[in-house]
Amino acid sequence: MTYFNKDARIYVAGHRGMVGGAIVRELNKLGFHNIVTRTHAELDLTNQAAVNEFFASEKPTHVFLAAAKVGGIHANNVYRGEFIYQNLMIQNNVIHSAYQYGVDRLMFLGSSCIYPKECPQPIKEEYLLTGPLEQTNQPYALAKIAGIEMCWSYNRQYGTKYIAVMPTNLYGPGDNYHPENSHVIPALIRKAHEAKISGATEMMVWGSGTPRREFLYCEDMAAACVYLANLPAEQYATLLNDQQPPLVNIGVGEDMTIRELAQTICDVVGFEGELVFDASKPDGTMRKLQDVSKLHAMGWKANTDFVSGLATAYQEFQKHTA
Ligand code: GDP
Repeated sequence: MTYFNKDARIYVAGHRGMVGGAIVRELNKLGFHNIVTRTHAELDLTNQAAVNEFFASEKPTHVFLAAAKVGGIHANNVYRGEFIYQNLMIQNNVIHSAYQYGVDRLMFLGSSCIYPKECPQPIKEEYLLTGPLEQTNQPYALAKIAGIEMCWSYNRQYGTKYIAVMPTNLYGPGDNYHPENSHVIPALIRKAHEAKISGATEMMVWGSGTPRREFLYCEDMAAACVYLANLPAEQYATLLNDQQPPLVNIGVGEDMTIRELAQTICDVVGFEGELVFDASKPDGTMRKLQDVSKLHAMGWKANTDFVSGLATAYQEFQKHTA
């Protein structure tokens, strides 16, 4: 049994991004046909009046808020002003308009970097706000924490039914492969590919190679989002209570070192040279493995094998760079 009916008017904010695009594909696959999207050029989500007008005329009944200013460790660290401003504006405008125009269910997407830097592992949802954040992505993390609080506060004051999902590091089709500003998987796919093509003997990896990360395929992330947004009312209601923020981690529950990741990417790409570690680049958080027991208890588990996910991501990268 599912909650959305096939005519539900579902607004996916950020459909040109990796996760938003995957959510639209997942909704289409399940037969939802009344999906509303807007490109950045058509609707600037940082513009309150424009967002208000959009909700007034389109009247979506459900919202996936996957629009955000995102990037890897370098981009988060350098474009700090843009990260806090754009994310706060987008979420304030969309969440508030959703409330004003009676959106039934809204899902707010963030990332696991909202949790304290020195967190017991695996990270449970209840560790939110129990310690200082990682400095490199504090502006992004604070904006996202404010968004979670906004969903929770609106639920408590206005009786809305908004939830927030925090995925671990994502990868897959539609990723950003910028050499500096991207996340580690697309960055290393690009580097391994370029090293192979140029016949290089070495490939540079940032940091010490010892931090650990958990990776989730974006199609799995989209499936989890649609699954949770679509839970039957009684089960969904367990996520909405006064004691805990309406927060669910989305991950696979296993992690690996950056060195292991780099080696696996080299194997998938077919680059046989040496890995060289650049200690002048930041490691960021040493470990951020999500506790996914809440997600599993809701009845959902990731199922994409990591090497096949990477192979698909690499094929897609080649298609776009050929
Ligand atoms: P984070 O998970 O928020 O820290 O973001 P990233 O995905 O950007 O980085 C994850 C880890 O990968 C960090 O320890 C980086 O130092 C490391 N890393 C190694 N090589 C690269 C690279 O080429 N690009 C990026 N973005 N990170 C890299």
